[in-house]
Amino acid sequence: MTLHYDLHSHSLASDGTLSPAELVGSAAASGVDVLALTDHDETGGIAEACAAADAAGLCLIPGVEVSVTWEKQTVHIVGLRIDPESSPLQQGLARLREFRHWRAEEMGRRLAKHGIEGAYEAASALARGRIISRTHFAHFLADEGHAKSVRDVFKHFLKPRKPGHVPGEWATLEEAVSWIHSAGGQAVIAHPARYTMSASKRRKLFGEFVELGGEALEVVSGSHSLGDSYAMAQYARQFGLLASAGSDYHGPENPWIALGRLPPLPKSCRPIWSGWDMERACPARLAV
Ligand code: AMP
Ligand code: MN
Ligand code: MN
Ligand code: MN
Repeated sequence: MTLHYDLHSHSLASDGTLSPAELVGSAAASGVDVLALTDHDETGGIAEACAAADAAGLCLIPGVEVSVTWEKQTVHIVGLRIDPESSPLQQGLARLREFRHWRAEEMGRRLAKHGIEGAYEAASALARGRIISRTHFAHFLADEGHAKSVRDVFKHFLKPRKPGHVPGEWATLEEAVSWIHSAGGQAVIAHPARYTMSASKRRKLFGEFVELGGEALEVVSGSHSLGDSYAMAQYARQFGLLASAGSDYHGPENPWIALGRLPPLPKSCRPIWSGWDMERACPARLAV
């Protein structure tokens, strides 16, 4: 039986727009057999997602997407098959959420200086979990008509050197990998083609990640072109990394990234799930 994997998704616990249960329902309806919930710096949606997955006969992989600052750039590291109870992981994520909170207040102050009042309060009201994301600010700014789309809000207000951007330090790459490993999980560089960096810098990132014991590259991603995926598949081979695949779904408002509509991994890849005992992980799904 060929299982359909989607190993990167978000719920209301971070900057997605569906509850964990709604997300799982939508994944099951889209033909996903194995879904990872990977909220930003947060694991609070996993319990609800697991309960919904049991009811829907879907296999839920507990995950997280850790924010990292590497050589002054933000890089995201997905952790898969983590134990959400792990205390090194939870202590690390709590620190990132604290930084997020301070950053959100500072974004509000900077946007106010720029003539946009009430952004922090509005973003806080949109955030239904414990984290505030730039996405919440973006929805408020787009709704208020400050730009014609969420994407344009990022471009004009929220990217580095724009009025609402607040620089700061997330986790180090080493911390992110070690928190994920402490929680018994596997570390995956999320959407590796999306980072704006030279080829030599990208190789440096992948090399350091391998040195730290990182396991995989997200070769297929909702934000990759087919060409990106083939390029990342080659890197995975060269660096001896496994390959993961995930939509990075945030909700039905972003229809260009659908759940369960991912192209297959290029043939040269070793899927991260090739080492998973799916019969043990997902007996319910395999029985149907
Ligand atoms: P944060 O982790 O709070 O800095 O926010 C990062 C999130 O913003 C990402 O996970 C995306 O969901 C979203 N994002 C980043 N860049 C863009 C963009 N250009 N257009 C739309 N959403 C974006
Ligand atoms: Mn996001
Ligand atoms: Mn990401
Ligand atoms: Mn993501």
